[in-house]
Amino acid sequence: MTRARRVGIFGGTFDPIHHGHLALAEAVGQALDLEHVIFYPVGTPPHKPGAPVSAAQARYRMTELGIAGNERFAISDLDLAGEAPSYTVDLLREIHARVPDATLVFIIGADSLRDFPTWHDPDGIARMCRLAVGARPGVEVDPDQIMARVPALHDRLDLVETPRLDISATEIRQRVRAGQSIRYLVPDPVWDFIRSRKLYRQASPPSPNSR
Ligand code: ATP
Repeated sequence: MTRARRVGIFGGTFDPIHHGHLALAEAVGQALDLEHVIFYPVGTPPHKPGAPVSAAQARYRMTELGIAGNERFAISDLDLAGEAPSYTVDLLREIHARVPDATLVFIIGADSLRDFPTWHDPDGIARMCRLAVGARPGVEVDPDQIMARVPALHDRLDLVETPRLDISATEIRQRVRAGQSIRYLVPDPVWDFIRSRKLYRQASPPSPNSR
């Protein structure tokens, strides 16, 4: 019997994409034998209300640069447009309509699993996909507690052994603002892009969310 093909869905703000994201996607892609891992930079992140984010187009380009050369990785702008918060459940519904035969595997770090019950319609998300969770340094989360709060997650949660890279986009932005190097925290082409566009030099980006 042939198994349904599995496609990894990796949503994030990616402001900027860094080696923590890439190592997570690579480890999950390999461990769960995903045909593709598709990165979906989010236009208006619903989990970060009030937090200014860089222009969507810049985050898209950095993600594109970051994944270049990995044959399993791809990028989509499906979640990029729009001023309204974009909900994961809606994204998954759209993707499912496009590839109805695939099992969707939504990839998150442990901090996102911890917050997952507070997301918009977590049971709806769990019904649309499997959830693959990677470790994040400094974050302890009890999957049983999460499943108790989101019953649809039962039997749909994969805890994947992933490299623990203590890197966050917040720290990267702070380092750039402080004039500290971010080399080796992000892929070199992303580093070049940040320097050439003079990103993250101010406390808030000049035009939040503009494209
Ligand atoms: P910020 O610091 O701005 O909040 P971030 O580094 O957490 O950003 P996001 O784009 O918000 O990056 O993260 C997208 C997804 O990647 C989330 O599910 C998050 O848990 C996961 N992730 C980010 N960094 C890591 C990391 N170093 N290790 C494992 N997972 C990570």
